[in-house]
Amino acid sequence: MATKRYLLKNGSLPDGSTSDVLIADGLIKNRAANIIDADAIIIDVKGSVLLPGLVDLHTHLREPGREDAETVLSGSRSGAKGGFTALSAMANTSPVADNAGVVEQVYRLGQEAGLLDVFPIGAVTKGLEGSALSEIGAMADSIARVRVFSDDGNCVFDPLVMRRALEYIKKFDGVIAQHAQEPRLTVGSQMNEGAVSAILGLKGWPAIAEEAIIARDVLLVDHVKSRLHICHVTTAGGVEIIRWAKARGINVSAEVTPHHLLLTDELARSYNPIFKVNPPLRTEKDVMALREALADGTIDIVATDHAPHSTESKECEWSEASFGMLGLETALSIVQKTMIDSGLMNWAQVADRLSTAPARIAGYIEQGQNLEIGARANVMIINPGASWTVDRDLVASKSRNTPFHGYELPGVITHTFFNGTPTLLNGVLVETGDAR
Ligand SMILES: [Zn+2]
Repeated sequence: MATKRYLLKNGSLPDGSTSDVLIADGLIKNRAANIIDADAIIIDVKGSVLLPGLVDLHTHLREPGREDAETVLSGSRSGAKGGFTALSAMANTSPVADNAGVVEQVYRLGQEAGLLDVFPIGAVTKGLEGSALSEIGAMADSIARVRVFSDDGNCVFDPLVMRRALEYIKKFDGVIAQHAQEPRLTVGSQMNEGAVSAILGLKGWPAIAEEAIIARDVLLVDHVKSRLHICHVTTAGGVEIIRWAKARGINVSAEVTPHHLLLTDELARSYNPIFKVNPPLRTEKDVMALREALADGTIDIVATDHAPHSTESKECEWSEASFGMLGLETALSIVQKTMIDSGLMNWAQVADRLSTAPARIAGYIEQGQNLEIGARANVMIINPGASWTVDRDLVASKSRNTPFHGYELPGVITHTFFNGTPTLLNGVLVETGDAR
């Protein structure tokens, strides 16, 4: 059976121009003014912005192992609702994705869900333990074609292990995504080290614990001429080191999360562990530096670090609670609020930071194609003039740990198309098969 055709009328493209877009046969079939197509379903998107489907380089899907918090299917639903057409599943599952078997399992589950591309990330070291390298080559050669490797949650702390990993991935143009956290400086740390942690009596997490690893690793990657990506940068000092490295031509890319673009460590005063996250929320000065770095390209992309946790592991005392927050369904609204509505970026830059650049870094060749004619129809639509109130009981994720519950946010996502098929239609999730 042929797939349906969709004619999106009068949408705003990332460059600010207005155009019709025709989606058929899984592709962007045409892009022009006043397209007429008698067989197409017409969707009027006047006033809305069309973007290439969003690509997340940092998602925790929890399957296998913690299916009570999230599954590949529920995470895919959450992603489709947030405008994503590709997610990168972090390796810290149980069992760990450190071999071909697990990454192939996650990849197949993504295909079965069918709502977006799920690209597994492979662990750098066996069991995320930081010593022996994982089966990097086998994962790269598997059907999942893994290109991004990360021990996220743990830092690859041993410089010799990090060097070997960086050398190994060169043969297939892979990238190591580092969770930059000096472990000895953060034993028992609960929140950002600063004035607020001192008042609250919670063990601090100094900025230097992040900056020291970023500094070491940009020097290391320059030495071995490989490729490094820094996960969730949170400090003004980290930004400065990356800016220095890029000015020297060092091959490093970096991400920032939506929550680190908006929230600060002042929120810990509530003692509400919904705000407990790794790396921690920092200061207003850091937030401003991160926004500036994202706008000028020092930080290449936004990645969600979507980290679902069961209610029991978040609704407890701060010191007992798990680190992490949901991110997929609020990411673009937070970026609109902090970067577009503040005048720091335009929609073309948003398309780059949330789709084109992450697809390029990870090598997802059919993602991040900027609505060009002939490209796979991975498209999302946001109405930036509308707003919505976040309700944790209405999320598509299996978990409820959003720090934005009750926030009124700008930008309502109305549609997501994955390979030409709607996964979100007029704000309603479409299950696989329904729309074909
Ligand atoms: Zn991390």
